[in-house]
Amino acid sequence: TSSPITRALLSVSDKTGLIDFARGLAERGVALVSTGGTRKALVEAGLAVSDVSDLTGFPEMMDGRVKTLHPAVHGGLLAIRGNEAHRAAMAAHGIGPIDLLVVNLYPFEATLARGGSFEDLIENIDIGGPAMIRAAAKNHDDVTVVVDVADYDEVLADLAENGGATTLGLRRRLAAKAYARTAVYDAAISNWFMAELGEEAPTFRAVGGTLAEALRYGENPHQSAAFYTTPDRRSGVATARQLQGKALSYNNLNDTDAAFECVAEFDPARSAAVVIVKHANPCGVAEAPTLAEAYEKALRCDPVSAFGGIIAVNRTLDADTARRIVEIFTEVIVAPAASPEAIAILSAKKNLRLLVTDGLPDPRAPGLTAKTLAGGLLVQSRDNAVVDDMTLKVVTRRAPTEQEMADLRFAFRVAKHVKSNAIVYAKAGASVGIGAGQMSRVDSARIAASKAEDAARLAGLDETLTKGSVVASDAFFPFADGLQAAVAAGATAVIQPGGSQRDAEVIAAADAAGLAMVFTGTRHFRH
Ligand code: 5GP
Repeated sequence: TSSPITRALLSVSDKTGLIDFARGLAERGVALVSTGGTRKALVEAGLAVSDVSDLTGFPEMMDGRVKTLHPAVHGGLLAIRGNEAHRAAMAAHGIGPIDLLVVNLYPFEATLARGGSFEDLIENIDIGGPAMIRAAAKNHDDVTVVVDVADYDEVLADLAENGGATTLGLRRRLAAKAYARTAVYDAAISNWFMAELGEEAPTFRAVGGTLAEALRYGENPHQSAAFYTTPDRRSGVATARQLQGKALSYNNLNDTDAAFECVAEFDPARSAAVVIVKHANPCGVAEAPTLAEAYEKALRCDPVSAFGGIIAVNRTLDADTARRIVEIFTEVIVAPAASPEAIAILSAKKNLRLLVTDGLPDPRAPGLTAKTLAGGLLVQSRDNAVVDDMTLKVVTRRAPTEQEMADLRFAFRVAKHVKSNAIVYAKAGASVGIGAGQMSRVDSARIAASKAEDAARLAGLDETLTKGSVVASDAFFPFADGLQAAVAAGATAVIQPGGSQRDAEVIAAADAAGLAMVFTGTRHFRH
């Protein structure tokens, strides 16, 4: 239980809501201390406020660069109230406690937005404010820190409910928010400064990101690029060790991540799995008892696209598989580990990049994904839904056979990693036709089927690969035409989320063709 707040330090550039908040505090008998401008505003409103200069024994100096940077302030914020030695130090040096800190910072961002000069911006870098915020937030056990005018009312309400004290829960939330504020503030300063210097690597606005590597260029040679790791990094491309080959490019990293995230969907204890990726989409996925077999099956799906691809495997890369992989040009291989023999075989291909990750990421793990748009950042929790956890509902007269059901799960697992609209045909634990990234679902279905025909022709087969296959759709079929395209390709079973207004029509079409269809209730859009 914490004690009531006795003294507050208020130092704000944005004076919105200040008077009402300060009055609310004063009415509770909280002593107020302020810096120059803040104090002036409060005194004009008729409030009794002491000057921080009286606390420090120093005037504000150097154009305000030094106002609160003093042990009388920082000791009052940082002293642990329950610590005898801390209390003795306070007594010895005449330091009084500061229980509540209310600070908002010099308007660096606003100065930047209105096109302020270099000197203007430098002068708008707050020094004492962030120092106090960080100190108060560290000592949140005893101190309440408020950095957002939107939180004034909640603090007053908390004080009213708790006899003039705040709850630890509120103090913790405010402290976490305080560090976010100073992080964003410094990121804004750094972004501006880097840009001012014409730095090559854009300091991406992912706050808390660490520059791992400046890349030669981005998606295209005229774009600059860098690779940042974030604190929540999971085992995968960000933590991989590169054992050989040229430096990874922006596109390599993006594709390698897509391949590895997809292969991680396959439990290595159940089967060996291989994913081949081109332009961030799988062009071949398969599982089998051994990696070498899985590789051959994955390659058969689209051997033309697989040229210059990125290969991900879910088990230790062995010699047999490595020997097959080096038969065609491959850009990157990523594996949880690689055997010494496999490493020796790959070393003959100097440019081939080999990455080992020390494990597979958990597809069910929580986490965030982000993408930028003009002036903003879209953030969402990652798609950690896994088909094995879904309740599959048979909606047709015919239920899938055991083999169909296994392939349906396989196909939906793959569809999660194919750009929308995604259509994935699969047979006997292998993709046999993948349609990705089309604006119309029917087109994705047609493309997947025609690629399967091409693959069959290349393999010298006289029957298309989709004959007797199953098909997965990442989202519902809005009309029966997408399903009819699958029927025409020879599919016998369908897996899709369901939920369309025309589900009845689509189910009727499936029944008419003798297809088995299951609904997952979960959509796997990926854009
Ligand atoms: P005021 O308007 O009260 O004169 O100044 C308030 C502003 O000063 C706040 O934005 C606060 O973060 C900032 N500030 C407080 N102490 C210091 C300091 O020691 N150095 C600098 N540069 N800014 C400070």
